[in-house]
Amino acid sequence: MAGKTIGVLALQGDFSAHEGFLSELGLQTRRLRSASDCIGLDGLVLPGGESSAMLRLMEPENLFEILGGLIGEGMPVLATCAGVILLAKKVIPEQRSLGALDIDVERNAYGRQLYSSVEKLRRAEPEAAGVEGVFIRAPKILRMGPSVEVLAWRKDDPVLVRQGAMIAATFHPELGSDGWVHSLFLDLL
Ligand code: GLN
Repeated sequence: MAGKTIGVLALQGDFSAHEGFLSELGLQTRRLRSASDCIGLDGLVLPGGESSAMLRLMEPENLFEILGGLIGEGMPVLATCAGVILLAKKVIPEQRSLGALDIDVERNAYGRQLYSSVEKLRRAEPEAAGVEGVFIRAPKILRMGPSVEVLAWRKDDPVLVRQGAMIAATFHPELGSDGWVHSLFLDLL
């Protein structure tokens, strides 16, 4: 993996938590704030935070269009929480999104009382017990297209999905204690 550079959208939110996991996997990271930061990347991370704020902050440098273009060309992406909302086909309540990942998501769908919680997850493979996900005002996946594969569930809700070179977690693997989701991303690179 030496020499691979992952661009981490760093306008707002918990982008710095991703950097540690990525460097542990031997990847270089670059914070994406301007158009020129987006040249020569091998992969992208869209972190958690506040998707509406990120959309606003992307405007001055045209990052919405630039990242949309890279993802459209097939660049591997790891999206978490707000990042999933940016990547989704449709957002409820309505909000602009890149539309690359064939899912519909509802923002803040677990409501206030679950503002923040750690939940047990069920993994598709390997079927390991004891994997946990940190949920912070998480979105819920309401619909998935046929090319979307579920990699983990919270009860019956899909919370980790993959479509082509995109991996999307509605929880925060970058705030967990192990790097299993980041390792799945590494496999895509
Ligand atoms: N609620 C946030 C949003 O709508 C996502 C929360 C998060 O990323 N932890 O963008």
